[in-house]
Amino acid sequence: MKFADLHLHTLFSDGTFTPEELVLHAQKSGLSCIALTDHDTVEGCARTAAACAAVQMEFISGSELTAEHEDIEVHVLGYFLDTQNQVLLDRIAQFQSVRQQRIHEMVAALNKLGVPLQVETVFALANCKSPGRPHVARAMVKEKLIGSLDEAFERYLKKGRPAWVPKTKMSALESVHLIHQAGGLAVMAHPGLNRSDEIIPALVAAGLDGIECFHTKHSTVMSERYLEIAETHHLLVTGGSDCHGFSKNKPLIGTVRLPYAHVEKLQAARQKFSAPHGP
Ligand code: AMP
Ligand code: FE
Ligand code: FE
Ligand code: ZN
Repeated sequence: MKFADLHLHTLFSDGTFTPEELVLHAQKSGLSCIALTDHDTVEGCARTAAACAAVQMEFISGSELTAEHEDIEVHVLGYFLDTQNQVLLDRIAQFQSVRQQRIHEMVAALNKLGVPLQVETVFALANCKSPGRPHVARAMVKEKLIGSLDEAFERYLKKGRPAWVPKTKMSALESVHLIHQAGGLAVMAHPGLNRSDEIIPALVAAGLDGIECFHTKHSTVMSERYLEIAETHHLLVTGGSDCHGFSKNKPLIGTVRLPYAHVEKLQAARQKFSAPHGP
């Protein structure tokens, strides 16, 4: 049996692994195929593809776009993206700059609350174009301003907490189109995490191709529920660990193993987008 992990992060967003480390862990976990899905970037794809090629591992270039529909945050995974697609690159660059601006705003809020974190510390630690709250939390831990990452989120960074700053997001419908015009397949990430089942029909109407049924934070019951939803809406089925390296505890890679037959279905579906659509 061959297995894949189609939801992985590196230090090109908020993971801690380099692409090479990620591929080493994928090998150790006995995976045959991985997809890189860093938040709002495709920057790590070329290096990860090269690391995979060196060990004959199959690679799918991807990204996890932060989007929203009717005020509900939804993460949309793009697979088989053309990482040179200029429309995609221009649009995600705008959201990277929103992320960078938000770091300034979160640090300012922390400073107001008496937490003496410096924005330079966060940017030095993040060292990527797509920084996020985990980098702020890590910088706080590094500077001994808080005991743990969880505490940083619980006290300051979680939605509704005093240093939480909302983020301008692209609409989920746009994210689906953006992925399609870059030759990719659009998949709703971890639907069980966002409690966003009611928006699935709208995404399907916009052309959603698949749904992430298997995910670290999905119970067996949840996975079965999303498999049923996939069948109802004729959606492809994906799954992945959402590994962020050592950012939390043990690396999650290898804990969610997607049977390879699902990858074959993705490849077959991809053919219909092999000639990129117009913008
Ligand atoms: P952002 O994209 O800046 O809003 O940050 C979201 C990222 O923060 C997610 O992708 C997770 O990696 C991480 N995250 C969200 N909630 C928590 C939490 N409670 N504890 C630790 N990490 C979290
Ligand atoms: Fe993340
Ligand atoms: Fe996500
Ligand atoms: Zn993720």
